[in-house]
Amino acid sequence: MNAEDVRRDVRAWLEANWNPDLALLAWRDLLAGSGWGCPTWPVEWYGRGLPVALGDVVAEEFDRIGAVSTPPGVGMTLAAPTLLEHGSDELKRRLLRPIVTGEDTWCQLFSEPGSGSDLAGLTTRAELDGDEYVVNGQKLWSTSAHHARYGMLLARTNWDVPKHRGISYFAIEMHQPGVSVRPLKQMNGHASFNEVFFNDARVPAANAIGAVGDGWSVALATLAHERRSFDAIQARGRKLPGKGRAIDENRAEIAELMEPYKWYPQRAGRVDLIVERAKATGRNADPLVRQEIAKLLSLARAAEWTGRRAKAARVLGRPPGPEGSLGKLYASQIARAAAHVHTLISGSDAMLQGSDGPLEGTIAEILLSVPAVSIAGGTDEIQRNIVSERVLGMPKDPQIDAARAFRDVPKNFSTQR
Ligand SMILES: Cc1cc2nc3c(=O)[nH]c(=O)nc-3n(C[C@H](O)[C@H](O)[C@H](O)COP(=O)(O)OP(=O)(O)OC[C@H]3O[C@@H](n4cnc5c(N)ncnc54)[C@H](O)[C@@H]3O)c2cc1C
Repeated sequence: MNAEDVRRDVRAWLEANWNPDLALLAWRDLLAGSGWGCPTWPVEWYGRGLPVALGDVVAEEFDRIGAVSTPPGVGMTLAAPTLLEHGSDELKRRLLRPIVTGEDTWCQLFSEPGSGSDLAGLTTRAELDGDEYVVNGQKLWSTSAHHARYGMLLARTNWDVPKHRGISYFAIEMHQPGVSVRPLKQMNGHASFNEVFFNDARVPAANAIGAVGDGWSVALATLAHERRSFDAIQARGRKLPGKGRAIDENRAEIAELMEPYKWYPQRAGRVDLIVERAKATGRNADPLVRQEIAKLLSLARAAEWTGRRAKAARVLGRPPGPEGSLGKLYASQIARAAAHVHTLISGSDAMLQGSDGPLEGTIAEILLSVPAVSIAGGTDEIQRNIVSERVLGMPKDPQIDAARAFRDVPKNFSTQR
């Protein structure tokens, strides 16, 4: 099938079926049944088996007609792809459809107080009790955990093997007595993250995604999707113009699910505001400021082209090359450079929040949000390790604990056993 065939088919289907007056759930049921909501997924699992490039053609047609698509959030971008790659057929049958319809939302329960960069050192434990696992421990930084129905949980099921081999990956129900979620307030005033405490929480053994003890390779699949997931979350989180029940319900869904991500454009540095702000304040007349603006815009443009090369390689089915690994570091560098230029433009006003500050406090929010880019989804230092080892072929970061039973590894956090 080529792009024109796909465009013709999806257009015909949308013209025959898109009805903004349907209930959102009824519309998403149609999407799940037709495969047009998730065109790159397999035909047997709510998709049409199309390559990524043709999936973009489908998205263009949804945008053109103003039709609601699948929901925003990590259910579609992280949980579903992981289930498709590693879940049993029974799990796919049970869990995929409510992700597509938006009935179930998800969160990612990977990081812990003592293991973020060293994720494989996690100490939340899951112990078998009949046909269920009992979970104890703590997760941290869990975006959206306060409203998620399911969590992608990494927990240690075997302490007598090296750290990467004793981890299992579960789909755990968040709404149960053994799970408590506490929001954390950030310095930019938002509360996107949570601490999640497990106190004899239970998860059916049948909810293991991949084999028990093989959770690390499943986690790597999730992390690979995470590196390119935010654009997809944002695309689904755009409010559609138009009127109708499905559109109104989609707006309400977006307002709830995108709340934790509201400040994400600011954390990227808002390069789009720079030229306009420089003109509005007259700082474009200062040669030193102009020079910094030129440096920033050149960097941003180079990153954009590198990103396009990475996407083109993906579309052609080539393995991810150095371009993919550089994208995250570029994003950090651009965000920091943009924050610096915003302060050159705004001066001390940049510190004023709310209606006192420039652009109703947006500039202050940029300054307070930019540090997150260098941490989320793997810190800059970890990205540099990845680039040096996997792209440049340099020697590996020394590891003293990779071959020992995890029980015997010295740990830095009190939930160790
Ligand atoms: C906006 C945002 C959203 C997030 N959402 C989620 C989520 O939904 N779910 C989730 O599970 N997690 C989430 N995280 C957590 C994120 O994955 C971790 O914060 C990140 O992996 C870093 O771990 P850490 O905070 O424990 O830092 P640490 O690992 O303690 O690192 C501290 C410092 O040491 C450096 N360092 C550590 N190891 C090395 C090394 N080997 N070589 C060189 N330097 C090193 C780091 O670069 C860093 O500067 C989120 C984080 C942010 C900022």
